[in-house]
Amino acid sequence: MIGLISATAAGAAARDRLAAAWPSRTRVYDGSVADAVRRAFAECDQLVCFLATGAVVRLVAPLLGDKTSDPGIVCVDEAGRFAVSLVGGHGGGANELAREVGEVLGAAPVVTTATDAVGVPGLDTLGFPVEGDVAGVTRALLDGEPVGLSAELAWPLPPLPVTDEGVCTIRVTDRLAPAADREVVLRPPSLVVGVGASSGAPVDEVLGLVEDALREAGLSVRSVGELATVDAKAGEPGIVGAAERLGVPLVTYAADELARVDVPNPSGAPLAAVGTPSVAEAAALVGGGELLVPKRKSQRADGRPAMATCAVVRRVARGRLAVVGLGPGARDLLTPRAKEELRRASVLVGLDQYVDQIRDLLRPGTRVLESGLGAEEERARTAVAEARRGQAVALIGSGDAGVYAMASPALAEASDDIDVVGVPGVTAALAAGAILGAPLGHDHVSISLSDLHTPWEVIERRVRAAAEADIVVTFYNPRSRGRDWQLPKALAILAEHREPRTPVGVVRNASRPDESSRLTSLSALDPATVDMMTVVTVGNTATRDIAGRMVTPRGYRWQETAG
Ligand code: SAH
Repeated sequence: MIGLISATAAGAAARDRLAAAWPSRTRVYDGSVADAVRRAFAECDQLVCFLATGAVVRLVAPLLGDKTSDPGIVCVDEAGRFAVSLVGGHGGGANELAREVGEVLGAAPVVTTATDAVGVPGLDTLGFPVEGDVAGVTRALLDGEPVGLSAELAWPLPPLPVTDEGVCTIRVTDRLAPAADREVVLRPPSLVVGVGASSGAPVDEVLGLVEDALREAGLSVRSVGELATVDAKAGEPGIVGAAERLGVPLVTYAADELARVDVPNPSGAPLAAVGTPSVAEAAALVGGGELLVPKRKSQRADGRPAMATCAVVRRVARGRLAVVGLGPGARDLLTPRAKEELRRASVLVGLDQYVDQIRDLLRPGTRVLESGLGAEEERARTAVAEARRGQAVALIGSGDAGVYAMASPALAEASDDIDVVGVPGVTAALAAGAILGAPLGHDHVSISLSDLHTPWEVIERRVRAAAEADIVVTFYNPRSRGRDWQLPKALAILAEHREPRTPVGVVRNASRPDESSRLTSLSALDPATVDMMTVVTVGNTATRDIAGRMVTPRGYRWQETAG
């Protein structure tokens, strides 16, 4: 919950806007400001104070404990110009909150934490448990000192400016090994612990078994990503309690799914009780991975039969492939989501000219794999191969990356062992449409005139179909030095079904610095003015030039009668 505190009328107005935007996340604290701050500090995870930073500093100073437990505090000034992350930038989430508040109120976020300011994530913000010299190694990263990465297992990490060797080390491991001097150990959630328990097994017995099994195998309990068991045990208090105490989710599987998993130590008892010859081993292995600790049973001091079993598997990291559309060119037509994916990626794959478009947005340490025109297949393969290695990959394309671009070849290569997310971008037809007016107000298609990978007969058949169906057409890849007869031919087919005066919009480099556009007609268009940086949009029989803008009527009755 976010506590909101204000003192003045202007502060209260801004406070109410935030409360209206986030009704379920916020609570307004009224009454004396000092009292409100104290109550909110005790009751909320975060505070937004519409007060001067000085006032807030004085009020919270006596309340502050340490950065792992204090709430994150953001101050917004009287004029609503700034959202200042004051306390708990990382642990309390105040840096992120300042950005979010800034977005709602139109205020500039002010973040002073060093790691956020230079775009290097604090090592305590990667979402992994971390041990060792966090402050020292983070400092070294910020100072540009060489920091080595020693990854004992491949796990997707955000980009870090690391080298093979350095004065400090970041070690990625699930093995029990204390951090050395000037070393940080990151614990990826690579271990899955399968557990079984008879009804009424005590939490301590289940948890004790899990902890012993890990310790004896030399594995860190902080790398446990989840506990897994059979559906029938989803509510077994000993298992639920163990997952809670470990702070990990409990995942459950149907008995027949577990029965299909090949395990080294099946037995008759669980088969009779829950319908699968293995619970612990099967539940740990069901997602694949390497069995590090085969099934073992709990030991009871009183000599009574064991009530719990467990097995430990190291799973293979699932890589992530983000297919990101960069929009037509202008930075403000790049979506915030695209920006976020670019900053999240540790590997970026793309055509060199598109990489140039967004290079400044990448975090230091991002590995950039760029290639020239024509290397589509290689780019698709590289992106998928990197994701399979457990990396967080962004594959970029201009406009929308799914429109005549990299998404389809990449996804054709990808199997279900990686996660894929798509980020839509403003495709050229839309960018051009907005410049021309409203040419796409009724049914429309895009047709690429490139016959490099599509036989011309196929293209021609589609142009003819669009012509006959009176659909607005946007031509992508309309004309290049080596391909100059296709556009006139396509326009001639459309002209068989449309008036010579049908409006045609030609937009070159939409939203780029040398953008240009022209509104002409089917009979007047000079194909020589069209090149590969251009899209050509041909209207339907109803499209008009109205005050120099290309307008395809939506077909409203009131407009027909008025016209
Ligand atoms: N994925 C891209 C299209 C790639 S095909 C998208 O969604 O926009 C390449 C063709 O797109 C070019 O030949 C040109 O016809 C068109 N194009 C891409 N960006 C453009 C822009 N900014 N202005 C005009 N046309 C553009």
